This record gives sequence, C-alpha cells and structure tokens, in this order.
Amino acid sequence: MTAPDPESTSGTSMISVQSVDKHFGPLHVLKDITLEVPRGQVVVVLGPSGSGKSTLCRAINRLEPIDSGRIAIDGKPLPAEGKDLARLRADVGMVFQSFNLFAHKTILENVTLAPVKVRKTPAAEARKTAMELLERVGIAAQAEKYPAQLSGGQQQRAAIARALAMRPKVMLFDEPTSALDPEMVQEVLDVMTGLAAEGMTMVVVTHEMGFARKAANRVVFMADGEVVEDTTPEEFFTAPKSVRARDFLGKIL
Ligand code: ADP
Ligand code: MG
Repeated sequence: MTAPDPESTSGTSMISVQSVDKHFGPLHVLKDITLEVPRGQVVVVLGPSGSGKSTLCRAINRLEPIDSGRIAIDGKPLPAEGKDLARLRADVGMVFQSFNLFAHKTILENVTLAPVKVRKTPAAEARKTAMELLERVGIAAQAEKYPAQLSGGQQQRAAIARALAMRPKVMLFDEPTSALDPEMVQEVLDVMTGLAAEGMTMVVVTHEMGFARKAANRVVFMADGEVVEDTTPEEFFTAPKSVRARDFLGKIL
C-alpha cells in the first residue's frame, strides 16, 4: 500500500518551506530549512530527540512563529495572523502524540465542532460527514462516548477523524503512536497508511520504521535543526550517507 508516485502529478508544492530559521532564545532550533512537498507525497521525518522535528511541524501551521524564511500551503503564503490564518490553518490537519480531544465532549461532537464553527458547515451535514469519517477509522460505534471511555488507539483514530473533518489539504502527524500501548500502534498506522494510499499529502514524524519503509515516498532526516539527509526510504535505510544518520539508525534498528 505505497502512496501514488507524486512525481506523476504535476503542479506546485503542496507544502513549501523555504530557508526557514527559528530560535528559542540562544537555541538555533531550525537552521535554514528548505522542504518542498509535492501534492500527494508522504514524507517521513526522522531524527534524534531535540532535532527540531516538532518545531518544524508546528511552524508549518503557524502554531510556532518563525524568525525568517517563507512557508506556503498550496501556493498560498502563511499569513501571520487573523481570519486568513484560521482559514489556512484549517487546510492543515495536525495530529499530535497526545490526542488532544475535548474531554467533556463526545467523540461525535469532537469531530463536528470545528467544521461547524470554522467552516460554517450546517450541523446535520457535519454530523453525516463525521459519522462517515468515524466509520472510515473504525470507531463509528464509539460516536456517543466520551474520550476517556475509549482506548488510546481509538482516541488517536478519533483525533485523525477530527482533523480530516476539516477537509485538510495536508496532514501533519507528530509522533502519533508514541504515547500508545504497543498493541494499539498498528491500528493507527493502518489508518495513516490508508490515507497515504488515497493520495493525502502527509508529513509524518515517527519512529515507526515499518511505516517509513512501506508508506513513505521520502525520508527527511534531521539533526541539530538541520536537514541532514533527504532521500528515498530505500536509500536511507540501506545506504545512509551521513555519520549522524548511520548513528541514529544504529540506535533504533
Ligand atoms: P524534536 O521534536 O525533534 O524532539 P523539538 O522541535 O521539540 O525537537 O525541539 C527542538 C529543540 O528546541 C529542543 O532542544 C527543545 O528543547 C527546544 N524547544 C522546543 N520548544 C521550545 C520552547 N517552547 N522553548 C524553548 N525551547 C524549546
Ligand atoms: Mg518532537
């Protein structure tokens, strides 16, 4: 279930990150990052803890402001703030390590909330779409339950459904399976693999090497705020070029 070859679909980048720099005080956390992601491509971002992977994801939808450089989604530059930002952010779905569901709302309410509030989707239509999405991620039976009544894997699948309900052009996943019990990892990866196969443009930070090998078109390896390698999964896993990548692979494989 590899994603369709993005090279075959022409057009501009779906995600364009150009010469982005970011500091946290004295810490230079993103160093001149450039990353062009074509429509439909699945990019797995790998790298040691602290290398800037989460900051990059957060910069892509402006949860984190950048010091310099440019970021555009589907050809549209990211505005700094205001209504335009809310609209653009709606194009970028994000799934985090912690599920971030609203605890006092049902699963169905979690999924319908943003479409109704931000996209102004009529409630009945939002519910219909939400049920289809919950069906797709395999938790339609849990629609009326509260997050705490679900397993971690189910909650993460609900979080994916919630992000998809906004009909995003891009999905960012930041270690979506890291907080899960091992037996629940695969059910979440299966949903992600399905999305990839359907042509969703995805950036996935993960330590799941099976997913990287099977579902990714491209591996970006980061270390110390830099993109150190940017290549195919096959190339990266069989013939990593840098010492840092070899060192990293030696520790996790
Ligand atoms: P990764 O996701 O690759 O583990 P992060 O992007 O989370 O890396 O963090 C990169 C570096 O930036 C780390 O050294 C981290 O401690 C630091 N950092 C992240 N967020 C903040 C913040 N809000 N304030 C200060 N330092 C931060
Ligand atoms: Mg991180």
